[in-house]
Amino acid sequence: MGVVTNAGGPGILAADALEANGLVLPAPSPAVRDRLAAALPAEASTGNPVDLIASGGPVEFEHATSTLLGSAEVDAVLVIYVPVSPGGAEEVAAALRRCQDAHEGGVTLLTVFMQSAGAASLLAGSESRSTIPAYLFPEQAALALARAVRYGEWLRRDPGVVPKIERIDALEARHIASSALDGMDEVGGWLEPEDVTALLRCFGLSVPATTVARSREDAVAAAGAMGGPVVLKVVSDSALHKSDVGGVALDVIGEEAVRRAYDAVTAAVPDAEGVLVQEFVADGHEVLIGSTESADFGSLVVFGLGGVTTELLGDVTFRIHPLTDVDAREMVRSIRGFPILEGYRNLPVGDVTAVEDALLRVSEMLTLLPEIREMDLNPVKVLPPGGGAVVVDARIRMAAIDPGDRPELADLPSVSRQR
Ligand code: ADP
Ligand code: MG
Repeated sequence: MGVVTNAGGPGILAADALEANGLVLPAPSPAVRDRLAAALPAEASTGNPVDLIASGGPVEFEHATSTLLGSAEVDAVLVIYVPVSPGGAEEVAAALRRCQDAHEGGVTLLTVFMQSAGAASLLAGSESRSTIPAYLFPEQAALALARAVRYGEWLRRDPGVVPKIERIDALEARHIASSALDGMDEVGGWLEPEDVTALLRCFGLSVPATTVARSREDAVAAAGAMGGPVVLKVVSDSALHKSDVGGVALDVIGEEAVRRAYDAVTAAVPDAEGVLVQEFVADGHEVLIGSTESADFGSLVVFGLGGVTTELLGDVTFRIHPLTDVDAREMVRSIRGFPILEGYRNLPVGDVTAVEDALLRVSEMLTLLPEIREMDLNPVKVLPPGGGAVVVDARIRMAAIDPGDRPELADLPSVSRQR
């Protein structure tokens, strides 16, 4: 950024606002300073901002502005004029118009005319001439330019590709989904835990060994079959957050402990149907991966810090389905808590690649199962590099779709049968 001004104060305001918005004001090279100085009074400053001082009129503005526009040292020039004489604003505006019309490079020119209504019409464009934007205050100009820069970066960014996902059992997934939907009415509902686990596995997502046990002794047998420490979680329609009501027992070891945990977690709710017995996954950073529907954008994929503090911290990011490889990379890195996954302080490093892979698999799930209206994998435990990302808690809500909404899926028997 180059700044030209006839008043020091607004020049400083502009410099501060530009830098606060991530724009840089380099010092001009000696050659450019010499060129500036050639037609400016000795009291003028040839730094950045270029300060023409109050005596600077149209001639000085035209000289300084065209010098910066042609310097190849800046991408944009902000000219600030504070009225000092009657008719001055119009004369300076006309001078800037000449600078812009003569400039053949791609340098952006924008202006701040502090309290001069007449200038804007002189700066306006026409069929053959582009408009020179005019703002009342430096802060507005800085913000507008910063937004334009950000938009330009976004346009230039590599959008990536939606990758082909390996190890997916699409037919089995459609089969599970359609039989679950058969048992639901039009508004749909939450899937049974067995179906959730099976679906996640169809998409190559890693889930610890999990068994539903409907009695104390079934739970003991399931835990015994798993070997190591287990987790017991109550299965019920009422418990949305199982751990909040005491419906989760972690790191349970031994038959007696399993029996006690069974009694405890099933007593936590009035409508316990049994428990999930699950392998205990020691360690790992907790993240959340999910999906939600937006009226404007359709399905969104969600990523954030997970576990019981998700709502408290609100450290989440959204992308529109389907995700590209670049989306997945950006999502993981855009949350504030990302340093945790990189091994913040003395924390272990997490398997970031596995998290990206899991995001892409969830996106693929939404592609092949458009009946998924809401999905909440929380937490996904992120193990050390090579260890993967393990989904230890998951909820999926489905509702039938109108096959007309998704013509590309209409020839799948399970979709065409719905409705
Ligand atoms: P809810 O979210 O309904 O309270 P979760 O199944 O997410 O229930 O369990 C609550 C917490 O218990 C999780 O955030 C996680 O920290 C821990 N947890 C759950 N399952 C496991 C598991 N298999 N291994 C280790 N920790 C677990
Ligand atoms: Mg949970």
